[in-house]
Amino acid sequence: MAVVKANAYGHGLIETSKAAVQAGVQWLGVARIDEALELFRAGIQAHPIVLGYTPPERAGEAAQAGVRLAVYDSQVAQAYADQARAVGKPLYVHAKFDTGMGRLGASPEGGVEWMRWLHSLDGLTVEGVFTHLAEADDPQRPTTDWQLNRFDALLSGLESTGLRPTWIHAANSAGALYFPRARYNLVRTGIAIYGLNPSAKAPLPEGFRPALTWKTRLTSVKVFPKNHGISYNYRYYTKKEERIGVCAVGYADGFRRRLDNVVLVRGKRVPVVGSVCMDQCMVNLDDIPDAQLGDEVVLIGQQGENEITAEERAREWDTINYEVVCGLANRLPRIYID
Ligand SMILES: *Cc1c(COP(=O)(O)O)cnc(C)c1O
Repeated sequence: MAVVKANAYGHGLIETSKAAVQAGVQWLGVARIDEALELFRAGIQAHPIVLGYTPPERAGEAAQAGVRLAVYDSQVAQAYADQARAVGKPLYVHAKFDTGMGRLGASPEGGVEWMRWLHSLDGLTVEGVFTHLAEADDPQRPTTDWQLNRFDALLSGLESTGLRPTWIHAANSAGALYFPRARYNLVRTGIAIYGLNPSAKAPLPEGFRPALTWKTRLTSVKVFPKNHGISYNYRYYTKKEERIGVCAVGYADGFRRRLDNVVLVRGKRVPVVGSVCMDQCMVNLDDIPDAQLGDEVVLIGQQGENEITAEERAREWDTINYEVVCGLANRLPRIYID
């Protein structure tokens, strides 16, 4: 399964999903039913599954479009079954168990009885069982094996009662890479397919490369005299005569409004100065005397000998690479290169 929620981690839902399917992926994981319906409307030939909550009133649409839903609550499951019967199409569901994530999921203790009841609901087809790992990106921690032991106990109960469904899944990217026992017959890989590390403690193997580069251009280069205020509220003043470039990127694109950003121009790191605006920001170009309007500015990716990774950007912003790429706004033009 390629996990393509949140606009494919900022990479673009449809194009990413097409590439994944071309590469052999059979399942596409999303977080919201609207993401799944978008895949369906684009005619993408893979099973879409909503991994999180879907409101019961939308279960009919899911059944119509062949979108798989997660179930973990009896009342909601009952409502799904009613909706599916109303539209006259089976709704495929995957039962979600909370083996220790502390988030969505039914309790694995008592899971066999619950699965038996779920199977009995007219309108639903129970196609899978799954769980989610809390700390697979910290492979030294014992909690992943503890979670998987609880999951395995449930699975053997299902096996012996003939209730084990076709698809069993537990692993996110870090789980799939670092815990082979978590692979079962389906893995839900997100961050890894974008060439990004699940964490510093669970890096990708050799040979992976980030899929994405984020760049913009200089839209103006001017020389300002000493003590000239730059951008809103003059949070920066030129210390001497300074060359200041304007970049066509701002916080509405996902570039954080911080005072310590660095970007690449002509292969060199240059500081962003003054407040990042909604659509623009300014850089100091004193180290790059030949910089000119139209020059490429790299925010994530390589330029010449230099590189700013999503991980570095994340450290700069006190977050994780996931949040950096998921924050790339929809309005950014995305260009796909084979
Ligand atoms: C987001 C998500 C994944 C993918 O996680 P990665 O760490 O990006 O591989 C897998 N499963 C579920 C339930 C998720 O919500």
